[in-house]
Amino acid sequence: MEALVYTGPWSVELRQTAEPAVAGPDDVVVELRAIGICGTDLGIVSGQYPPVRPPVVLGHEAAGVVHSTGPAVTDLAPGDRVVIDPTYSCLHCRMCTTGRPNHCLRKDGTECGVSADGMFRRLHRTQRRFLHRVPAHVPLEAAALTEPLSCAMTGVQQLHLRTDYSAAVVGGGPMGLLYAHALAARGVRGALVEISGPRRALAEKALPEGWSCAAALDAVMDREDIREAGLDIVVDTSGHAVETGLARLARGGQLLSVGLGGPPISVDPAVFADHSKRLVGSIDSLDGSFAAALDLIAAGRVPADRIVSHSYPLAEHRDAFARLGIDLVNGRRVPPGDALKVVLAP
Ligand SMILES: [Zn+2]
Ligand SMILES: [Zn+2]
Repeated sequence: MEALVYTGPWSVELRQTAEPAVAGPDDVVVELRAIGICGTDLGIVSGQYPPVRPPVVLGHEAAGVVHSTGPAVTDLAPGDRVVIDPTYSCLHCRMCTTGRPNHCLRKDGTECGVSADGMFRRLHRTQRRFLHRVPAHVPLEAAALTEPLSCAMTGVQQLHLRTDYSAAVVGGGPMGLLYAHALAARGVRGALVEISGPRRALAEKALPEGWSCAAALDAVMDREDIREAGLDIVVDTSGHAVETGLARLARGGQLLSVGLGGPPISVDPAVFADHSKRLVGSIDSLDGSFAAALDLIAAGRVPADRIVSHSYPLAEHRDAFARLGIDLVNGRRVPPGDALKVVLAP
């Protein structure tokens, strides 16, 4: 079975790997049909994500059909359509038992597509508790958006929200769009900030109702009430807007920082002590957000068909990565093409 293996910075290759088989009673082997390429994958491939442990099969946003099940799995059968929650948790460590399974102390060595073999391949073994059934009317490519949407919904859960708050999400990629939808699902309206014109044009067609696009954070500040008070919520998916976002927050405002690869920042503690601003972080999924994300997609409230802009066979992964600004042939970043979420199909 071919799998897309990361071996070191700028080095990704299709390699023959052993086919996984059911081993434990709760195991399920899933035949994957659609696996999203995530910003984390781009960070890994370009050498900017230290937790990765090569050689490792990349990929953690997958949907497919059940291939085989262990004897204790009685409610899933071969052919059933499922999406995989890739966030492993041991259920027993201090982080798992204190409500933070996304930071399970056993994460190192078990993190799918980072420190444990991931999902850019045809077959993947997991356990029943990490699977969610996909309704018949939901395309598996749309279901593959469940994981990133779930991360966005978890991030939004870390914020105190009111429907009359002003909000800006920085970064018009798939994560920015999904954060806009996660906020919209909680009744919050705002603006998505994206510098690139072509990407903004794509994002504009996939925005939630009541949301608009802007070319810069300062363009959002042009609205009179926001100019006077500042923004109530800023979500930075780029990793580069934490400092500028904090400066543009209203007193009592909240900045959610979920982007990787940005520069270190320096902050005057007075922004917290004197201005009641909050800086919040979030990663992976918590508290039923995975099922809630799948519900939102199944209800048609997230335009998955517009957010998933391209699909490539696994063998054409170089073209897929190139469209997202990663030139694997020459080992360098290039301007990204007209893409939002790109999925691979084994
Ligand atoms: Zn991801
Ligand atoms: Zn744990």
